[in-house]
Amino acid sequence: RAKRQGRNLYEWSKPELQAGSFERLILENSLRKAIDQEQLLLHYQPQLDLKSNQILSMEALLRWQHPDLGLIPPGEFIPLAEETGLIQSIGEWVIYSACTQNKAWQNQGLPPVRVAINLSATHLLQKNLPEVVAKILQTTELEPQWLELEITESAIMQDKQTAIQVLDQLKQMGVHLSIDDFGTGYSSLSYLKELPINTLKIDQSFMRDIQENENSRAVTYAIISLAHHLDLSVVAEGVETEQQLDQMREKNCDAIQGFWLSRPVPPEQAEQWMTYTLERGCLE
Ligand code: C2E
Ligand code: MG
Ligand code: MG
Ligand code: MG
Repeated sequence: RAKRQGRNLYEWSKPELQAGSFERLILENSLRKAIDQEQLLLHYQPQLDLKSNQILSMEALLRWQHPDLGLIPPGEFIPLAEETGLIQSIGEWVIYSACTQNKAWQNQGLPPVRVAINLSATHLLQKNLPEVVAKILQTTELEPQWLELEITESAIMQDKQTAIQVLDQLKQMGVHLSIDDFGTGYSSLSYLKELPINTLKIDQSFMRDIQENENSRAVTYAIISLAHHLDLSVVAEGVETEQQLDQMREKNCDAIQGFWLSRPVPPEQAEQWMTYTLERGCLE
């Protein structure tokens, strides 16, 4: 957060991004233009399989390169995009761009990985989402197995019936489905087995204090075990230290993601990183 460039832009921008004011309207308009003016961009963060030591996935994380405010993280404009309905076109832009990027990496001869995209609730609960996704896959010529969609429990719980319907169709197309930030939602565990999902991603809040907090440790281990009993794979998010990595390995967690491996980086850097780890192996 503190990394944004410039004067006191953060202090200045914060109320703007939140207030229901004239400034907010200006911001809404600039967000409206952001797509056309190519101010949106994706950074990518790898996910590592702990058994094969291979990259499984590159998660696309949205940023807004604002002409005056600098690089704005998603937490600060996605809520506005959701309230204004702009999330619709932004979300489609994200899917399209990430699929295009992934296809380009494949065409360059890099070993194929999935590209993971975060879906907002509005997008998930849109009944024609499978069609939209199918069309993008067709246009970009990316095979469905190389696309992963991340959804949150809370998005599913907003309208379980629609969510399951949409997810079923996506699963049938061959898209990989993950639940993001798992453990923080209000879902009942019993419905999990009815969801056509492949992977649980353990929310990073548990990893943050796993060393000193017994409860975080208990929840993390329980999620790993739950996932395996349901035949799902499980990913630990927010792994920052070698100690956390070793712990996840020891508990048979399937994959990890986090600063220990790499921060989210621009596509060119992600590509260099993939080429480098391909030559050297991730964990050497
Ligand atoms: P998320 O999907 O759970 O993504 C993980 C967030 O944690 C990212 O923040 C990432 O930079 C950060 N992170 C990754 N590893 C570590 C670590 O080891 N330590 C710590 N402290 N943080 C780590 P980011 O990029 O700011 O994204 C925040 C959230 O915004 C995402 O959480 C996701 O829910 C949402 N988001 C991002 N891109 C999109 C998008 O294209 N569409 C939608 N609807 N939401 C998005
Ligand atoms: Mg995510
Ligand atoms: Mg997450
Ligand atoms: Mg999240």
